[in-house]
Amino acid sequence: MARLFANSRRSVHRRGPTATRRGGRRRGTIDPCDASPPWSCRGSRSAWPAARRRPARGRCHRDLRRRLRRRPGAALAAAPRVTWARVAEPDDLPGAPPPAGSWRVHLIDVGTGLSILIEGPDFTLLYDAGTNDPDERPLRVVAYLEAELGPSGDGLCVAKGEPAPTGRRTIDHVVLSHPHQDHASALDLVLHCFDVHDVWDAGRPYDRVFYREFVRAVAREAGATYHTAAPVPADRTVTIKGEAITIPADVTWRTFSEGDVVPLGADARFTLLHAEAKAHPDPNQNSVVISVVLGATRVLLTGDAESGKRADPDAPLGDVEAHLVARFPDEVDADILQVGHHGSKTSSRRAFLDAVSPSLALVSAGPRTYAGKRLPDPEVIEALEAVGATVLRTDAHDGACPATRRLGPPTGPGGCDSYVVTIAPGP
Ligand SMILES: [Zn+2]
Ligand SMILES: [Zn+2]
Repeated sequence: MARLFANSRRSVHRRGPTATRRGGRRRGTIDPCDASPPWSCRGSRSAWPAARRRPARGRCHRDLRRRLRRRPGAALAAAPRVTWARVAEPDDLPGAPPPAGSWRVHLIDVGTGLSILIEGPDFTLLYDAGTNDPDERPLRVVAYLEAELGPSGDGLCVAKGEPAPTGRRTIDHVVLSHPHQDHASALDLVLHCFDVHDVWDAGRPYDRVFYREFVRAVAREAGATYHTAAPVPADRTVTIKGEAITIPADVTWRTFSEGDVVPLGADARFTLLHAEAKAHPDPNQNSVVISVVLGATRVLLTGDAESGKRADPDAPLGDVEAHLVARFPDEVDADILQVGHHGSKTSSRRAFLDAVSPSLALVSAGPRTYAGKRLPDPEVIEALEAVGATVLRTDAHDGACPATRRLGPPTGPGGCDSYVVTIAPGP
């Protein structure tokens, strides 16, 4: 039975007087179709920034009424307006919290990896932060977070030569989908640079240095709550790469279960759809899948959840995808989908995509191969488009991101193909 985390230590998203952006600048409300450049919309991204023209009104709006009509209780509500824009450089970010009743979903271009930030007027949630690209740096994600949430941490949190931040910001929830480097490599730095209230992790044992550094960082996060699907050991100790790490008493440690509902903020919550701590041969099978409700809009974050071995989308459902469709048919029916395993044919079976029927599909991918395959697979992109989804990809300009003005360090494939999706009240 689902539990409600009524006493979860959800915070108020803190943006006090120190929240002024770098250089004292604040940016206005996002509406790509009303804003002046550099906001760009669907259809104009390849032309941007040379064209820097105002996008045609209506091209970047996705009407979700079709989907809302199918949801009990939502038929009479005004349909939200969902817009998206490419983020190619820091100035493309709004850099201020969304107004009441609005939310943002950021697909952060980390090269070959995944990182998604969900931002409400009263909370922030980071789902994964990692990359497999050797010339990428954890600072990419932190640079993005600092550009959007404000400077935080110390000299380790900014590029060499930049002034060290003087305060700290809060990220309410950090979720590690599963212990693979392309999802976790930057999380220890995120935990160092920001105050994090709740950390979510399957708790599957994994003997790798990056996972050890992540758990060490959790142990240092005094006042936080560490949630795992794995039971809490009596000695509160895990051993990774030969090092015993004890989670101290000032970090609360709790277990979570499938079906648990976690409040985020006003009219926003998430449900845990997959909680599996068993040491499967492939950690992808441990992916913590969450369904995030933002007003009348649902976002499904799947990590690297799969259906099984690489196969055409018409192959039968299996593994985590089969479990999700069978156990949580309502919760997987989402407007926005983070496409599983970077768009690999291990995931996104047609039966799964039919159950989700997303309007927007977020694909995070880069140049580094997975078992010799560069992702996403074209068959998966075709299957997404066949269910009516618009696909946003972070790999459009890999190898061609400009050295200056991108988010984060000047090397590596990432930093210029992020997207911010805005969910705002309908007209
Ligand atoms: Zn991955
Ligand atoms: Zn993985």
